[in-house]
Amino acid sequence: MALPTSARYVIIGSGIHGLSTAWNLARDLRSSGRGSGADIVVIDKSGVGAGASGIACGVIRNNYFQPAMRELMAHSVSVWDSDPEAFSYHPVGYMQISHEAMRDDVASIAAQQAAIGYSSTFVEGAAASDSYMKG
Ligand SMILES: Cc1cc2nc3c(=O)[nH]c(=O)nc-3n(C[C@H](O)[C@H](O)[C@H](O)COP(=O)(O)OP(=O)(O)OC[C@H]3O[C@@H](n4cnc5c(N)ncnc54)[C@H](O)[C@@H]3O)c2cc1C
Repeated sequence: MALPTSARYVIIGSGIHGLSTAWNLARDLRSSGRGSGADIVVIDKSGVGAGASGIACGVIRNNYFQPAMRELMAHSVSVWDSDPEAFSYHPVGYMQISHEAMRDDVASIAAQQAAIGYSSTFVEGAAASDSYMKG
């Protein structure tokens, strides 16, 4: 693709962060009447998704332990959920199976998710897990 001779905004790197930055900037420019995606050029030394983004497993999840991640991940998931077709997003759910030693940590994640209204199911103990999995 030929590069334009000038561009108002240039984003270097077309991984998920570069593309997300371009997408959000384009939305802001359009909603504020200050421009559109046509004002933005994304360049990459190789190609779209040439780095980690192109080989990622594609797991979109909200189960990181750090509490600060909870709302950030919920926000990110809501972006994917907002237009699954455009983003080629196929939500199938995410299951974390943890050792007994992690029970308190995982319980705190479930409690934080409940506190912000993020839907999840917390299953505790061998018998309940056995029944849940077979169900
Ligand atoms: C094997 C693997 C599996 C993963 N699985 C998951 C997962 O399931 N879920 C998840 O959320 N995360 C996952 N990750 C993490 C996730 O992939 C990364 O955090 C994310 O892709 C980083 O995106 P990025 O845009 O910062 O970097 P990148 O995707 O690496 O993009 C950087 C881009 O910049 C370009 N670039 C670099 N230098 C220059 C330059 N000088 N000039 C021009 N272009 C340049 C590169 O070519 C590249 O395209 C995984 C990572 C790996 C490696």
